[in-house]
Amino acid sequence: MKKNIILMGPPGAGKGTLAKQLMSALNLVHISTGDMFRDAIKAGTPLGTLAKSYIDKGDLVPDEVTIGLVKERLSQGDCAKGFLLDGFPRTLPQAEALRELSKEINRPIEVVVNLDCDNAELIRRISGRRVCKTCGAPYHVITLKPKVEGVCDICGGPLYQRADDNEEALKVRLEHYVQDTKPLLDFYAKEGLLESFNSLVGKEELFDQVSKFLNK
Ligand code: AMP
Repeated sequence: MKKNIILMGPPGAGKGTLAKQLMSALNLVHISTGDMFRDAIKAGTPLGTLAKSYIDKGDLVPDEVTIGLVKERLSQGDCAKGFLLDGFPRTLPQAEALRELSKEINRPIEVVVNLDCDNAELIRRISGRRVCKTCGAPYHVITLKPKVEGVCDICGGPLYQRADDNEEALKVRLEHYVQDTKPLLDFYAKEGLLESFNSLVGKEELFDQVSKFLNK
């Protein structure tokens, strides 16, 4: 089974949902830089204040901050069982830093799972996305409604729309994806690590395809 994994794809491709499915099925540590920043914002830490000033506009948090955060997390003991990086790396300097770090800690990246999705679908998914404030479970105003409006089916927490899930911020996020993150597909293809999947097949089918591939 492959165990040190990077999950890549544009915002709205389904990385977070797939990561949560894989994490419990394959017993991997889920490392989402977006979640780490949102936790810091919730906790009101200096990192949270800094991150919020970038995230709300759709911009990327500076590399040195993000790399430092991932370095610290990846070096922790629980990552020895295998980890799933969701939303990192997003820039070439981040990918280069990760290459060095994974050598240093002797936890090499074994595969990069890339999710393909067309722009119209990304916009549809993101603009209707709602998230549980308590447990982070994702919903959609049309395709994945909770049983009671505004309330999480799983934990009863309130649902909200992420501050960066608006049209303006999404435009900036998609531009960053094309300019900064998409070139990493070539970077990992050259290393022979890239495996792409079409996320339009739906979340259960996608999970099935990716977990079969990772279990090979
Ligand atoms: P996500 O939850 O992965 O969509 O991330 C939400 C936001 O957090 C992004 O739009 C960025 O502002 C910030 N962020 C998450 N991961 C990174 C990263 N690897 N590098 C820079 N900024 C990031």
